[in-house]
Amino acid sequence: MSTYLLKSVRPLGGDPTDLLLRDGRIAEVGTGLDAAGASVVDGDGLVALPGLVDLHTHLREPGREDAETVETGTLAAALGGFTAVHAMANTDPVADTAGVVEQVWRLGRRAGWVDVRPVGAVTVGLAGERLAELGAMADSAAGVRVFSDDGHCVWDAVLMRRALEYVKAFDGVVAQHAQEPRLTAGAQMHEGELSGVLGLQGWPAVAEEAIVARDVLLAGHVGSRLHVCHVSTAGSVEILRWARSRGVDVTAEVTPHHLLLTDERVRGYDPVFKVNPPLRTADDVAALREALADGTIDVVATDHAPHTVEDKDCEWAAAAMGMTGLETALSVVQEAMVDTGLLDWAGVARVLSSAPARIGRVAGQGRPLQVGEPANVVLVDPAARRRIDPATMATQGRNSPYAGTELPGRVVATFHRGHATVLDGAPASPRPVGDEEVDR
Ligand SMILES: [Zn+2]
Repeated sequence: MSTYLLKSVRPLGGDPTDLLLRDGRIAEVGTGLDAAGASVVDGDGLVALPGLVDLHTHLREPGREDAETVETGTLAAALGGFTAVHAMANTDPVADTAGVVEQVWRLGRRAGWVDVRPVGAVTVGLAGERLAELGAMADSAAGVRVFSDDGHCVWDAVLMRRALEYVKAFDGVVAQHAQEPRLTAGAQMHEGELSGVLGLQGWPAVAEEAIVARDVLLAGHVGSRLHVCHVSTAGSVEILRWARSRGVDVTAEVTPHHLLLTDERVRGYDPVFKVNPPLRTADDVAALREALADGTIDVVATDHAPHTVEDKDCEWAAAAMGMTGLETALSVVQEAMVDTGLLDWAGVARVLSSAPARIGRVAGQGRPLQVGEPANVVLVDPAARRRIDPATMATQGRNSPYAGTELPGRVVATFHRGHATVLDGAPASPRPVGDEEVDR
């Protein structure tokens, strides 16, 4: 197994030190380290963070390999600094059985770029009618702990209550896509002044907030863990604060794009800005940033949603919803949170690594950069700036909302269990298959 000596890196943006990665672990931390046979990485000025963990990735395989595969999506993840991703269940077939989640888990192992943790569907076929085999998915080799019908809301309160009760048995969490379906039928963008001007059907903030409010009450009632996906409104933040003050075990995520972009982007009818939940107002963006900084929102999750050109590059009403995000997430968080003084790099490690690993119950990830810990490490050059060109990305999706714009920060290297998956900002090699167990 390879040995890497990372010279003069700054863990969590702190003082320079050396990190020695050996046998998949952080073997030594200190200045002036030396190791025979080690590959030396000059880390001068680079920030070292624990490998990033995404709670919300759409890998599209099985079923839509024309949009993304586990191979291309997880390589994109590694290039973005991730060492683990949760693969959403809205594939074809839906990941609603032990068989499908194990298939995705095995594809992830075979690709070797990151740990792939499948998310199990809450209901059979995401249809919202009866519970999927939650226990069988939890007991499977994939060890599912996160369950979500993402893309659809578990709108039936009785089913949502049952799911919350069921997952308690194995310390699982229900991750809700909060969208009241009747209030959002036909919705094309945020409901506000601009939707009226543009003549597009609106997606009102209350459609999200009504479900968040209901679900925190349900979670409190049954004493279970609830996670709210892609929170997008100031009102949802208020409800989360209230729920936490009452002791409800609720966590929440925000996407990079909801931290940076507003509904003003929709003005040109460019479908790259069509996303669910929709881009909201500047006031919402400000509230989401504040909530992430103060811990009301726990994590940034990409909601990486690659689409084919055919599905995305068409007239607004017909275009699929979603944006890619794995390869730009860290840069967007730097722009929205670090360069604005709202979060330091320790805060970034919290929202992009330790908190998502804790919520997803992913062992060996999101750990401190200390001796003995698994060597999941990302090196970032915060001083770099880069122009975003979707054509050069590893994801098959070309639907990046940042195309042609400049973002700060660059992932220089990613180490997955001590193995370099990214070096000099380019793919190195995947972790050899079967060289160690993927633990939970
Ligand atoms: Zn969603």
